[in-house]
Amino acid sequence: DKVLVSGANGYIAMWVVRHLLERGYAVRGTVRSESKGKFVKEYFASLGHGDNLELVIVEDIEKEGAFDEAVKGVDAIAHTASPFHSNVKQPEEFLRPAIQGTVGMLKSALKNGSKVKRIVVTSSTASILNPSDKPSVLSERDWNTSSPKEVEEKGADAPPMVIYRASKTLAEKSAWQFVEEHKSELKWDLAVINPPFVFGPPIHDVSSPASLNTSLKSWYDNVVADTPKTKDALSFSSGWVDVRDTSLAHVLALEKEAAGGERIISTGGSFSYQEWINVANSLPPPVYPSHKLPTGIPELFNSETVYNVVYDKSKEEKILGIKFHTKEETTKDTLEDFARRGW
Ligand code: NDP
Repeated sequence: DKVLVSGANGYIAMWVVRHLLERGYAVRGTVRSESKGKFVKEYFASLGHGDNLELVIVEDIEKEGAFDEAVKGVDAIAHTASPFHSNVKQPEEFLRPAIQGTVGMLKSALKNGSKVKRIVVTSSTASILNPSDKPSVLSERDWNTSSPKEVEEKGADAPPMVIYRASKTLAEKSAWQFVEEHKSELKWDLAVINPPFVFGPPIHDVSSPASLNTSLKSWYDNVVADTPKTKDALSFSSGWVDVRDTSLAHVLALEKEAAGGERIISTGGSFSYQEWINVANSLPPPVYPSHKLPTGIPELFNSETVYNVVYDKSKEEKILGIKFHTKEETTKDTLEDFARRGW
């Protein structure tokens, strides 16, 4: 079978492509330019998968019919492309590619994807969580209602993270709405994966810590970088998942019948940054030789610490059943990867 993966050069998408190729699928990836595709091609050729990977250029995912050609002949689709950075000035810079990119992919699949049986869209727990001060347990039944409202009210004055959260919420909502409106014509169904913060070893094209994708850069800045850390930053807590696990969740969501029509949170659990620091410092040497890791305020995290958010894992366990990496495993593998790069 052949799977189309949009934004194939991204942090999560590279691992999605890798799982697919290792499981014997053929992959067609979309990238925005020839130059972004070069690294992807070379990386998978070096793993011996060059023959099963084809790349196509989709310059502008907002354009009507952007994916019309790319969907032809594929059996399934993983749509991951969506902006996630903090240099956003106007909400539309995120909302347009997130929403039109997602709905555009579904439209193209309806029009030209005669072989498509399942589409998996990468959403986020950003579509689930209403940021609040009260610790909460959240599940797939919850929706982020506050970020779209805040963006509507504040426009360009809304903080970048709020714009990002709104873009993910509105994109996922639009996807479910498209499916509802076209259900009598569809030969495929939709599954959505909602990852929280994604950490773990990168295989995409990164040349320096500064060029890391947003979530892993945050881990690097808090757990590895030799910079002063505030108490607020150290005690920040949320949900997390290893990139190798959430990418596998995408593949299993394509394979498992029961994933059709479901949004599924894929999480390894909750974290605080001080907890990651404590884990990093507890690993036997010489995991990270280049400099001494920060220690933060070790006692800020202990067995009594209450996480701000806990995500319900029961749907994932029932439908996908992934054995998630532990914090120790993810930390060790990530630090070893960084050390190999000389960071
Ligand atoms: P990356 O930034 O590494 O990947 C983003 C991908 O989307 C890249 O291929 C990028 O292409 C593409 N993209 C970004 N903006 C646009 C645009 N305007 N038009 C077309 N393509 C675009 O991030 P991640 O791998 O982390 O993100 C992948 C997906 O996972 C996103 O949908 C994100 O929202 C979601 N996600 C990420 C989480 C995380 O913690 N990392 C958590 C939950 C969800 P290019 O390289 O050309 O910019």
